Amino acid sequence: MNSPFARWLLVFVILGTIAYPSSHSAQKDLATIVLVRASVGSDSSTIRIRAARTITSFQRPERTPDGFVLRLPSTTIEQSAMDSSATAHPLRVTSERIRDFLVLRFRCAPTDTMTIRRDGQRDLVCTIRPLSATDRDIETPTKNHGKWSLDVIVIDAGHGGRDVGAEGVNGVYEKTVTLAIARKLRDQLKETLPRTKVVMTRDADVFIELYKRTQIANESGGKLFVSIHCNSMPTKPHPAHGCETYILRPGRNKDAARVASLENSSIQFERSSQRYAGMTEDQIIISTMAQRSFVRLSESFAAAIQKEVKQETPLADRGMSQAGFFVLVGASMPNVLVETGFLSNTSDAEYLASSKGQTALAQSLANAIRTYSASYQHSLQH
Ligand SMILES: [Zn+2]
Repeated sequence: MNSPFARWLLVFVILGTIAYPSSHSAQKDLATIVLVRASVGSDSSTIRIRAARTITSFQRPERTPDGFVLRLPSTTIEQSAMDSSATAHPLRVTSERIRDFLVLRFRCAPTDTMTIRRDGQRDLVCTIRPLSATDRDIETPTKNHGKWSLDVIVIDAGHGGRDVGAEGVNGVYEKTVTLAIARKLRDQLKETLPRTKVVMTRDADVFIELYKRTQIANESGGKLFVSIHCNSMPTKPHPAHGCETYILRPGRNKDAARVASLENSSIQFERSSQRYAGMTEDQIIISTMAQRSFVRLSESFAAAIQKEVKQETPLADRGMSQAGFFVLVGASMPNVLVETGFLSNTSDAEYLASSKGQTALAQSLANAIRTYSASYQHSLQH
């Protein structure tokens, strides 16, 4: 009983016994779950749980640190019941039998809520939605003006710690460049948008898992997420150069796929890359759908960044693109990933490593945020 799991199990069994003292007698009469299927929508996800016969009772879902747990007394599950839509990211439903309870665990953000209802005799339907689903509904921002100010901006300096990112042709690390730009951006925003809270996913040379970065953004109530990176080619020096801004969508072309796979390779530094196992192209599509309500805002922010970088820096404008970046998956706010320039290119790398270049890039991002903020406020009033 020394392991935390064993202790937890004990508590679980005791609670189960208290809640269902007669559960033993029902053991011979188990309901069997034959299907668990999920559908992830733009502002809510539903999980359908179907039994072979009437589900007599279920307990109210309970919060866990990383989602919900649902306990069904006198219930078992068929091995083939779990549909891949439920077991894959983002929900990753798992099942476990504890005594004669079937325990289903659902992963979701700490701010999500879960409701459960019957649908006919054999089905239970669980709905998971963000706590402030109505507040967050971009399509109907007039519902709550007060909460819609751009009050929290999240700046994500790519890489960090043991994950150095790309290494420049001049020896500079991507993690150093991104942190320098992020800090300068924060300082500029403090001046230009003093009433806006700025959250940094990291403010030191530390490693932060990709999933944690959006988690920090979501938990801090971020209204805009910008992830700062530097591009690189496999061989250096390389002529490819310039700045481009990405939004989350399945990659459209080879180059976008290359950039996404380069950035996603950060997961090799994480303790468990298991969490990304279900992150297939399909999952990126699902996540894109979940972000549907703010794609338009992400796009307009990305366009504003490109425009500003073109004006403020000598970096070439490579335009806007789209790819499946893990670090953007799960963000519940408009979000972009900026590839500021190529560390594999001699002149880009020199610029990115310089304080002057970093300041100009931070200035471009700050200007873009100001433009975005103004048009965002405007759209709320009309
Ligand atoms: Zn990067």
